[in-house]
Amino acid sequence: MEYKQFKEIKLSHLGMGNMRLPVLNNNNKDIDYHKGQEMIDFCYKQGINYYDTAFIYHEGESEVFLGKALSQYPRESYYIADKFKYSAEPDYRKQFQTQLERLGTDYIDFYLVHGIADNNYNTYMECGCIEYFQQLKREGKIKYLGFSFHGNPGVLKETVKDIEWDFAQIQLNYYDWYYGTAKEQYDILTEKNIPIMVMEPIHGGMLASLCDEANDLLNELNDQNSIASWALRFVKDLDNVCVVLSGMSSFDQVKDNIITFSDETKLTPMELETIEKACHIQQTQIGTTCTACRYCVPHCPKNLEIPYLLKLYNEYKLGGTWRLSRLKGSDDAHTPVNCISCGICTKQCPQSIEVKEYLKQMTHDYLGVK
Ligand code: SF4
Ligand code: SF4
Repeated sequence: MEYKQFKEIKLSHLGMGNMRLPVLNNNNKDIDYHKGQEMIDFCYKQGINYYDTAFIYHEGESEVFLGKALSQYPRESYYIADKFKYSAEPDYRKQFQTQLERLGTDYIDFYLVHGIADNNYNTYMECGCIEYFQQLKREGKIKYLGFSFHGNPGVLKETVKDIEWDFAQIQLNYYDWYYGTAKEQYDILTEKNIPIMVMEPIHGGMLASLCDEANDLLNELNDQNSIASWALRFVKDLDNVCVVLSGMSSFDQVKDNIITFSDETKLTPMELETIEKACHIQQTQIGTTCTACRYCVPHCPKNLEIPYLLKLYNEYKLGGTWRLSRLKGSDDAHTPVNCISCGICTKQCPQSIEVKEYLKQMTHDYLGVK
């Protein structure tokens, strides 16, 4: 395992994200403790010491699971990252206390203001939470204070202007580097000497399997490497990236990621060029860039499983309309025709994805082939 120096401590370059843990009965709240524990144990034994969770992951169950899964190891041998989400519980004192209880700890190593974005920047800045967390840091209940970010670069500049942050977490992957604002965000933080923790390095799984043409290009470089490993290598090579979080869902993913982070070889210019080429090919073929973060889901008045539907949209765009046959006999939550085009999801989405347009198109094509 590679390590990066963060102030006075060493952090594993790969961090374990706990937002997409294996679940039972297809129920997001029902974490499979047996499989999850196996993954955490393997991570720990392989030297991963950074474990990321949040108040809202798995509807609150991620924190409970992680606290239990790590409890057999000495508390000082690992670092927990957890996040305050205003919209889930505006009372920041209460939320922090609940988190300590769920995790079964009396301090949190890395604490983040969760998901600062253009539409909540003022709320976070004015609600008093940052001053409170700074106070907790002085008391030792928080060791390092940071934020995760989903907004525009202009808002990022404002966020780092007057506050002393220990670190920041941003969405960074080669797709957002070439097609989004990831590079601009990376430069803003680097200029302010703020170390970066990376989220979505594989873009919610999208960069784990590209279209055939793009996959072939990467496989020609080395067909022993997984497609996902190219995405991880892209971000881990960046100097100011401290921890790369991967929201691992299976033991195989854990093993594959650990292999990637045990090899310090940097990408060659030719490999980088090929990644960029594969990304461009993918971009011309892809449908949506949904990362399955699920921020939109609780707000949909029709309770639609939006990430599932957008994933299916991508599959049908890449694989053909016949894939929509999966919609046959779906329940209400998995039926795009139930969308009423209210647009509420787009307002909640960090990428402002026009979900209703995709669902409209999918409905149209599905009705055409039915
Ligand atoms: S636009 Fe459709 S998917 Fe989005 S919140 Fe409204 S009903 Fe749900
Ligand atoms: S549509 Fe946007 S908010 Fe909803 S799951 Fe996808 S990326 Fe997240």
